[in-house]
Amino acid sequence: MNIESMIFDEALPDNSIAMFERGIEILRDAETNCIKSLNGEAKLKMRKLLWLINQQLFGQLAIIDMYNQWAELLAIEDDFKASSKSQEEIPFVAFGNDELDAAPTLGDTIICDMCGKEHKIEYGKKVNEDGTKSPSKLLAYFKCGDKSYLAGINGKDIRRK
Ligand SMILES: [Zn+2]
Repeated sequence: MNIESMIFDEALPDNSIAMFERGIEILRDAETNCIKSLNGEAKLKMRKLLWLINQQLFGQLAIIDMYNQWAELLAIEDDFKASSKSQEEIPFVAFGNDELDAAPTLGDTIICDMCGKEHKIEYGKKVNEDGTKSPSKLLAYFKCGDKSYLAGINGKDIRRK
């Protein structure tokens, strides 16, 4: 018996993974990847299955008000965005591989954009799984005064001109 056929059984199925997998099966049998394009018997099977899934989440005879669901989810999303705002403000650098390949290779020293002097290139250390550190060329930096600046990634000069 297919899992969606248990909809009117006294003991409802409770294995959510099996239900979702059955949903995938119904879609594949109908040769589609979209629930909207199901018709006829396949649509009926999916409706039964979704009833079973919803009864698990909301309660067996709950009235699911899509308007209320939307308002609730939107409020949660807004809270999440408000709390993650500080994370978005942290500056980060992203480089594509092509961009890195095209960048000049770093030498042992660098001419500083800020003071015009020559500074030594230093490299960070990688923290190993056992807590020890080993040299890593992944991140290169230089010091100007008492501040450190990012100079390169993987031995390439990534400073913007
Ligand atoms: Zn400098």
